[in-house]
This record gives sequence, C-alpha cells and structure tokens, in this order.
Amino acid sequence: MRVLIVEDEKKTASFVRKALQAEGFAADVCHNGDEALAAATSTPFDALVLDIMLPGRDGLSVLRQLRAHRNTTPVLLLSARGEVNERVEGLDAGADDYLPKPFELVELVARVRALTRRVGENKSTLLRVADLTLDTVGHRAHRAGREIELTAREYRLLEYLMRSAGRLCGRMMILEKVWDYDFDPGTNLVDVYIRRLREKVDAGFDAKLVHTVRGVGYVLREAP
Ligand code: CA
Repeated sequence: MRVLIVEDEKKTASFVRKALQAEGFAADVCHNGDEALAAATSTPFDALVLDIMLPGRDGLSVLRQLRAHRNTTPVLLLSARGEVNERVEGLDAGADDYLPKPFELVELVARVRALTRRVGENKSTLLRVADLTLDTVGHRAHRAGREIELTAREYRLLEYLMRSAGRLCGRMMILEKVWDYDFDPGTNLVDVYIRRLREKVDAGFDAKLVHTVRGVGYVLREAP
C-alpha cells in the first residue's frame, strides 16, 4: 500500500509519513500542489492525504484535476478550519473523506486504512426500489429512466441503502458498510452524504425514497 502525502508544513508531513510507515504503508511526500498532481498522475497510489491549503495550486484544484482525468484514487482531505463549506466543496470535488486539523495521528492512520480497504466483490444484479434502479455491474443509477450521476462514495451509499431497502440503516452501520469505519469519526459525514444523495435521487419527485428516522438513521423505501 502506497500513500502520497501532500502537505506544505514539513513537520506535519514528516509526522504523518512516519505514522503511516510505522503501520506498514509506503509513503511519499509532496510539498506543493503542482508536484502532487505530477506525482499522482505518474505513479499509482492507493490513497492520497491531501491538504487543502497549499502554495500555488491548492488541494481542491489538485483533486478536481485528478477526477477530471478519471483518476479514482481515494482521497482524504485535510482542512485547516474544518469549515462546512470547505468540506462540502471537497466532497463535491470527489473527496472520499475529510479530516479537520488539528487531528490525532492514530485517527488519520485509521482513516487511511479504511480508504485503502476496498470492497472487492460486485454481485451482478439490478436493484430496484419503486422507479429507482441501480445496475451493480455498470455502477449506474436511474430514476424514472433518467440517469443519476454519482461519485464512487455516493454509489456505495446508494447501493447499501438499496440492498437494505425497507430496513432501518443506522449511522454507525452506514459508516461501517460504506466507509469501512469501525469507529465513530464524530462528524456529520453520513448526514452530508445523505443530503447530497437526496438531492440527486429525490429532488423534483413527489414520491420521496430516502427517509430520515430521527436520531437513528435512514431508510430507503417507497412509502414514508
Ligand atoms: Ca497547508
């Protein structure tokens, strides 16, 4: 497992690198965005730890460039202030996870480990709930015949909700199944993603499919 760390604060970069190496990862470091983009496009990495605030090309720009070129390497964004707008912008740009600074090294390592643990098997079926369909081979979703564009993480979330259709999905269970977390990151990651999924799946339709069970989690089903 090889990780690229993009962080201009040399001390932080060095701590992160040592922590990942101690866990058996190979770790490379870049100190600016242009270097990072060049490295990430020329070398296959299993994950990127990407700081947003960088000299020159910032982390979000690096991420957008990678995704625009269909590079799907999992990305953990580091955001300086843990600002909600920045997080949403990062998720929009195709980040898989974010960690506000300051962070604990053990938490960063746990998240990188989760990102590099991929779901291997794809069961070849067409899932259907009302007029929403999910092709788990082609990774395509449609509602009422119209294709829904999903990021890789949104796809995993929707697949999990559809495989559990009609059943309550608690936040912890979603974190475990969709993010491979076995700990509570203490953020509103799940809620942010559900909100984004709702906008894509339910907006403009009278029959809502994604329902909130207050304080517990979510359920995908035809009736409320
Ligand atoms: Ca920085």
